[in-house]
Amino acid sequence: MITPVLPTYARVNLEFERGEGCWLVTTDGRRYLDFTAGIAVNVLGHAHPYLVEALTAQAQKLWHTSNLFRISGGERLAQRLTEATFADTAFFTNSGAEALECAIKMARKYQYVSGAPQRNRIITFEGAFHGRTLATIAAGGNAKYLEGFGPEMPGFDQVPFGDLDAVKAAIGPETAAILLEPVQGEGGVRVPPPQFLAALRALCDEHGLLLVLDEVQSGVGRTGKLFAHEWAGITPDIMAVAKGIGGGFPMGVCLATEEAAKGMTLGTHGSTYGGNPLAMAVGNAVLDKVLLPEFLDHVRQMGLRFTQMLAQVKDRHPDVIAEVRGQGLLMGLRAQVPAADLVIALREEGMLVPGAGDNVVRLLPPLVVSEDELSLAVEKIEAACQRIEQRLAAAPVRGAAE
Ligand code: PLP
Repeated sequence: MITPVLPTYARVNLEFERGEGCWLVTTDGRRYLDFTAGIAVNVLGHAHPYLVEALTAQAQKLWHTSNLFRISGGERLAQRLTEATFADTAFFTNSGAEALECAIKMARKYQYVSGAPQRNRIITFEGAFHGRTLATIAAGGNAKYLEGFGPEMPGFDQVPFGDLDAVKAAIGPETAAILLEPVQGEGGVRVPPPQFLAALRALCDEHGLLLVLDEVQSGVGRTGKLFAHEWAGITPDIMAVAKGIGGGFPMGVCLATEEAAKGMTLGTHGSTYGGNPLAMAVGNAVLDKVLLPEFLDHVRQMGLRFTQMLAQVKDRHPDVIAEVRGQGLLMGLRAQVPAADLVIALREEGMLVPGAGDNVVRLLPPLVVSEDELSLAVEKIEAACQRIEQRLAAAPVRGAAE
């Protein structure tokens, strides 16, 4: 019999009652070190007093009105986001996929109002993940997510990630834009080769295409810059953001230059909830913390320390960990054993991590993680590796391909 909750998730039988910083506490009192952070969402950790205060203060005044009326929190947040980024304008959403939908519509519309309506195709990359709506599963191109859902939404041309020649070959008279994650998250924490983003920017400029970035996972400080593309010294035309921007409150945003957004005129797009007063109060509070210079300094320092410590663990456990990769606090361990085994062994050690494609285990702590907590995480990873090595010694038959 089907469960009352649609059974689309393989849920772990753990339920949490509360959280504090980087820790989650189960209903029966067990504490877990949370390096899932809501899948790169809880940038300030759980129950951050500043966010609790912002949310409750707003909740006592006004939750929701509608985009039919002015929302001063949204005007303020848009102003601050445009000042902090390449963008001139912002559309607030409730999720990452919805921010991507806005970005895709905007890119097509830009070409349309620029006199090139035939330019409606977008180049995307193998291993990408952009969400679960019909357009975003087509953009992601993962056959597993597309199967059975009827005609695939047309307009996406996929090429291998990091392959500049393939991008050049895919550009045609119908190409409108190039869409990518600066660091692929779900695809397995894949960092493109150096200069890749800069080369894509140059190609877009040369061919009149828009560069659309999906910073839903890599943004809001996760890599040690406010947005990951800043490492490459380039700016996009359009950018989808979500996850960390609400610190746990469901919200996202599509940011764009004035030029890229020129087709999105009155009545062309909308969302009932997007940018409502509750979300905007939390979004502004998250930004208050993330924009402090010491915040990103901290992420960079912790990212460096963590990378060093993880490299040592890998050297000690080459039969379990094949590779350490990532940027800042968006880190991944490519496993020698099935990644799911490492996820389970870590849970047995009291640490929560999500898997990813390419047999990778992601390590996504809240960005407020301390050096002591990173050391503790490394101890747990060490212990999990030992557990797996003991099992391998007892039954050395399983391989990563399972
Ligand atoms: N884009 C990226 C890079 C993501 O990692 C995700 C979610 O994991 C999405 C888009 C979709 O976001 P949401 O699940 O909020 O719709």
